[in-house]
Amino acid sequence: SNQYVRPYAVYNEKMKLEYEGNSRVMINLEQAIEKQEFCVYYQPVYDAKTEEIVAAEALVRWIPDNQKPVLPGRFIPVLEDSGHITKLDAFVNQTVQEAIARRYREGRKVVPVAVNLSRMDLMDDHFMKRIWDNLAEKKIPINMFHYELTESAYADISDNGVRFLTNLQKEGAKILIDDFGSGISSFSTVRDYEFDIIKLDMGFVQRIGTSKKTDHILMSLIELAHRLDMKVIAEGVETKEQAAFLKEHGCDFFQGFYYAKPMPLKEFETLLDQ
Ligand code: C2E
Ligand code: MG
Ligand code: MG
Ligand code: MG
Repeated sequence: SNQYVRPYAVYNEKMKLEYEGNSRVMINLEQAIEKQEFCVYYQPVYDAKTEEIVAAEALVRWIPDNQKPVLPGRFIPVLEDSGHITKLDAFVNQTVQEAIARRYREGRKVVPVAVNLSRMDLMDDHFMKRIWDNLAEKKIPINMFHYELTESAYADISDNGVRFLTNLQKEGAKILIDDFGSGISSFSTVRDYEFDIIKLDMGFVQRIGTSKKTDHILMSLIELAHRLDMKVIAEGVETKEQAAFLKEHGCDFFQGFYYAKPMPLKEFETLLDQ
């Protein structure tokens, strides 16, 4: 058989075996959403200078009956391969929109929240229309939303996908490029599209101080971002030394376990209300 063909384009027994082999999971998405087993966690983003919380990233968790939360690494790839990811992302977007709308109604402090979009989301006109309509309907300022995309989401983006992101941006949303510097990174994505913020990949951030090369690449990426009029978030900041290096070299925002881990909405709200 051809080893380059993925054998699990649809759900079947073979796919199940495949995923068990990779210690991934089978998931009945409809049922899990209906049983409210998905939960959105929030990880704060801090201003490098003031160390205040200025934003957050929404990160989905799956909490099956009485079990520990399952991290997205174990089920997002499954949903991406099967084409179901867009349904989950619609749920996450709606959950975040509702949380923000409620805080507005209650007159409490609100910070922009970033949601992750998959490449398939930008091929789905229904998904994009729904996000757009919901924002209009809830009358939430669109600048309270950030959308994170990796470079691979731009590899074969449709005209409608580009229009969707451009329209959001015009209304004040920010578009972030996630995991910048990882994978098959090239500079053509930042050349061809307009981003507001780049997120430095954790793989670089966590190697700060281990080699001159890494340090110089990071310094160059920060400078590149600023020259192109973008801000920079460093992801995966785990130590004081990493934070100090990044701050010294002009990084604008920090996100990482050194500051805070992703947490349930209640906890995040308590932090924001302090
Ligand atoms: P990402 O968008 O790059 O999100 C950042 C990941 O880094 C999160 O992992 C976060 O918990 C982790 N992280 C943050 N700070 C640190 C740190 O200091 N140390 C370490 N070791 N890790 C840190 P998480 O929550 O497991 O999510 C993994 C990936 O799953 C995300 O990477 C994103 O690509 C995807 N994902 C998460 N939620 C969603 C979602 O709602 N929709 C879609 N399409 N993808 C999602
Ligand atoms: Mg992200
Ligand atoms: Mg990232
Ligand atoms: Mg990632």
